[in-house]
Amino acid sequence: MDYTPTIGLEIHAHLNTRTKLFCGSLNNPSDSEPNTNICAICMGHPGVLPVANKEAIDKILQVGLALKCQIADHSKFDRKNYFYPDLPKGYQISQYDKPFCENGYIDIPIQGERGEEYKRIDVERIHLEEDAGRLVHSEDGKETYVDFNRAGVPLMELVTKPVLSSALEARKFAEELRLILRYLNISDADMEKGQMRIEVNLSLAPEGSKELGTKVEMKNLNSLRVVEDATAYEIERQSKILEVGEKVIQETRGWDENKQQTFSQRSKEEAHDYRYFPEPDLPPITISADNGFDLDRMLKSMPELPQAKRNRFMEEFGHNLETADVLIENSDLANYFEGSVSEALHWLQQDSAPANTRDADGKITAESDKKIRELTTNYIVKNLRTLLADTGTGIKNLKITHENFGELIYLIHTGNLSSAAAREVLDEMFDTGKDPSDIMEERGLKQVSDEGALEQIIEEVIAKQEKAVNDFKNGEESALKFLIGQVMAQSKGSANPQIAGELLKKKLK
Ligand code: MN
Repeated sequence: MDYTPTIGLEIHAHLNTRTKLFCGSLNNPSDSEPNTNICAICMGHPGVLPVANKEAIDKILQVGLALKCQIADHSKFDRKNYFYPDLPKGYQISQYDKPFCENGYIDIPIQGERGEEYKRIDVERIHLEEDAGRLVHSEDGKETYVDFNRAGVPLMELVTKPVLSSALEARKFAEELRLILRYLNISDADMEKGQMRIEVNLSLAPEGSKELGTKVEMKNLNSLRVVEDATAYEIERQSKILEVGEKVIQETRGWDENKQQTFSQRSKEEAHDYRYFPEPDLPPITISADNGFDLDRMLKSMPELPQAKRNRFMEEFGHNLETADVLIENSDLANYFEGSVSEALHWLQQDSAPANTRDADGKITAESDKKIRELTTNYIVKNLRTLLADTGTGIKNLKITHENFGELIYLIHTGNLSSAAAREVLDEMFDTGKDPSDIMEERGLKQVSDEGALEQIIEEVIAKQEKAVNDFKNGEESALKFLIGQVMAQSKGSANPQIAGELLKKKLK
């Protein structure tokens, strides 16, 4: 029998505000000495009062708008009561029945069998809450310390509807959300630093069944790969249990990286009673322009989101989904790419550009236009990204301006640089940030494509290499390669080998 997985995700992400959610302590939990970014408010001292951080609310509303959610007119905070050593107040300020955002969606890119496809994943709610502190255990396991730098850091919690149906979809959703958070500059969403935490809720039911199976929760999945691997493993594990007629136990499971399998952390007792009630120390919030929350303005100033950029790149540049994904995975890289293309096209429009790249009206030919887009794509996706990865350089620290990169593409397209020479120029540009035409001149890499100049060299070679010339005339094809080699040597490597070959053949006939 086949079993259908039903998967829902619960994702927490730190908002990168300057200060914490309800006090003026710095929001900088990963890069500070333990217990330095704390104050009486986030430590829950008696008599203190929280004040909501507007920057955090603005950011939650931006995520809600980006995910096409309904934004609440009125919202409020609630107390979620539980006891744990990392929770100074004995309760977490969260949101219960009036979250800021409800009913949104993300279209996740899933490559279908016939080209590109998207699947719409519905989002149930996005709310704002504070994080707890962090327990740090000594290596021998005998002591536990508490670092409260994280206590009170603003967290967004997003809950999807249970509409995902594979491990890959779970990963894609988390990936796309992370991209959106980064595009909006709302969270760095670095899972290694605990800035984004993902819980997977999963149940299996016989195919076609209306009833859902027993729900298993997976927590502490610390990378996107683990989210995918653990989900796939769990689908497999539960299928096997159901196949032999046994029952899946409702429980929370973790991921064992060494064994590459999930393991039981605790079985679910009764549902927790958190005794939620409205937070009495914070007033309810009206979301309106009068009250400082101008949603129209937020929408207008929203950057182009990953999905829109992906679609536009596929349309404008003829990228397939994979290439578009590579270029949009970082908005700085996407901007760099577009800047380089427009700069290369700008070079082509100048009088100094070869005449064959423009039509009678002086417009860039469709062929040249297409070639420039392809060349820029290839040189960024392959060559530049390899250099960045090999040297551990981020696009922000790249020394090559997009103007210089565009000029490099122009020089390649117009035959001034062979592909070997272009790689050499690019290497030096990468190290020094120098202008590509300067490097080309200094290193004598300019390729001679000019037929007049080449003809002279070819005539000299033909005069000198009588034997090879005769061999070629007697039908020995390899002699032509030798002669091209001689032209290259004579020109000190600057001849365009393709044009040299064509000219040689013409002369020898
Ligand atoms: Mn939560």
